[in-house]
Amino acid sequence: MEKADIGSMTKGELEAYVTAELSEPKYRGAQIYEWLCRGARPSEMTNIPKALRDKLQERALFTLPAVEEKLTSAIDGTVKYLFRLYDGAVIESVLMKYKHGNTICISSQVGCRMGCKFCASTIGGKERDLLPSELLGQVIAAERDSGEKISNIVMMGIGEPLDNYDNVIKFLKLVNSDDGLNIGYRHISLSTCGVVPKIRELAEEKFPITLSISLHSATDEGRSEIMPVNRKWGLRELLSACVDYYRICGRRISFEYTLISGKNDSVGDAAALGKLLKGAFLGTGAPIHVNLIRVNEVSETGFKKGSPESVKAFSEELSRYGVIATVRRRLGADVNAACGQLRRSRKEKSEEKA
Ligand code: SAH
Repeated sequence: MEKADIGSMTKGELEAYVTAELSEPKYRGAQIYEWLCRGARPSEMTNIPKALRDKLQERALFTLPAVEEKLTSAIDGTVKYLFRLYDGAVIESVLMKYKHGNTICISSQVGCRMGCKFCASTIGGKERDLLPSELLGQVIAAERDSGEKISNIVMMGIGEPLDNYDNVIKFLKLVNSDDGLNIGYRHISLSTCGVVPKIRELAEEKFPITLSISLHSATDEGRSEIMPVNRKWGLRELLSACVDYYRICGRRISFEYTLISGKNDSVGDAAALGKLLKGAFLGTGAPIHVNLIRVNEVSETGFKKGSPESVKAFSEELSRYGVIATVRRRLGADVNAACGQLRRSRKEKSEEKA
């Protein structure tokens, strides 16, 4: 019998499950739901009778990620978690402490199949999608481990959230639910490499979340070279979906642009980006925002970062087109906090042993 993934259920669904499947009174569902929001295992559910706890252990899946390794930055207190999932797979989450509250960066898949050339997360391909309970579980497990309340979520870890669309939508509803963690949609960002049909579907949900687009190049030729997804949906389709997203949701979209030395970081590249974005959003009234980040050097990719001066020149050129750019502060520089790098080094270690 397949075990029920109770952590992916809403309170109502869990109440229905305990009555229909476990022949228990409805209020037990509400009690279990509360425990799960706090990351409890059955043995910790002290107001639940032992017989029911045993039944749960036997019939339900407990997917709360377990802390496999934890690195705390001596520079800024950023905590990088390597989480072990119920089936042994590992993912990463990063807890960042800002003045305005704690932010967690969560993974959406085990690995990734998007194949971006500069990214460590995609090197071994995709193993599987994360369940809604595992998306939520990263937030719950980090809160439980750190003793801190998390108020913001960015979906910028391992994986492509829009390639795990249904589970991500369920997760957003669960984490926003006022009987759950109750994290406001405005405190959630989702980043995508540009899965255009799903951007359009997401717009129809009208969640007031922040959408980020990983752009990284202003030409189809340059983008297709480093991001295979662009061969399927080119810049014109992508930006038209972004404009429609803005029209439907009224939410500003931000663009991520990773600067790679000699590839996409010249002043000419900045001008092309400025022109592209200004042109795409002309007449929409949308403010355009670009986050610049110097590429994190991943040994397998061979891409190098440019000088801080080249970033400054890039950003100044963009401003000539009315495009506001911020240079991403690099948190957790000493704990391998960039996407997929800790999981990657862990996999390499275990492959060496084998
Ligand atoms: N798949 C989604 C979510 C991942 S977000 C997306 O592509 O948006 C992770 C962000 O970090 C993306 O903008 C990604 O392009 C960027 N990134 C990946 N590898 C990087 C590297 N080595 N250096 C800098 N940025 C990187």
